[in-house]
Amino acid sequence: MRVLLVEDEALLRAQLKGTLEQSGYAVDEAADGQEALHLGSTEPYDAIVLDLGLPLLDGLTVLQRWRSQGQSTPVLILTARDSWHEKVAGIDAGADDYLAKPFHTAELLARLRALVRRAHGLASPLLQHGDITLDTRTGAVTQRGASVNLTAHEHRLLSYLMHRAGQIVSRSELIEHLYAQDFDRDSNTVEVFVARLRRKLGADCIETVRGMGYRLVPPA
Ligand code: CA
Repeated sequence: MRVLLVEDEALLRAQLKGTLEQSGYAVDEAADGQEALHLGSTEPYDAIVLDLGLPLLDGLTVLQRWRSQGQSTPVLILTARDSWHEKVAGIDAGADDYLAKPFHTAELLARLRALVRRAHGLASPLLQHGDITLDTRTGAVTQRGASVNLTAHEHRLLSYLMHRAGQIVSRSELIEHLYAQDFDRDSNTVEVFVARLRRKLGADCIETVRGMGYRLVPPA
């Protein structure tokens, strides 16, 4: 999963970026409203964390422009404490959830997980596919009850596919959603990670759909 983090306070931004990366997200960051508008309009994100008080262009305007362009990525806004009118204006502008500053990062992560799940019509935090289970709260992956050790990249790939189980996901889509903008992207790496996941979870867990991409094979 790839997220856009929009926050003008450098220290908070750096801290949140670290937390998000530790939780398995690929993170792009923007420090002002114009950069946020540009990135959010041109790059595909699975979710966006948007501070409302931003230089150059305020967060509310950025959000309104995204939504008027038809951009439907889930957006979690960061609002000033006790500012109920900011929350109302933000949700009316198209935000999916909000958090008032200061907040606990655990709450941010939980809300983000829920936004990503619900964007794919998944209500439960436990993603199940055949005999594979991914607990989105802890990141734990188990197969027939036994825990499976995955590297961060393997985990991100599996999580992306499990959020889209049954759908065909192209290699270019995977690259766009698994890596941050500044990452040196190489389409071969996707093949490498798919091969590793097949070794760990069973050769038939991920289907190659010729010329189109990959798919988690729906259970028979
Ligand atoms: Ca701010």
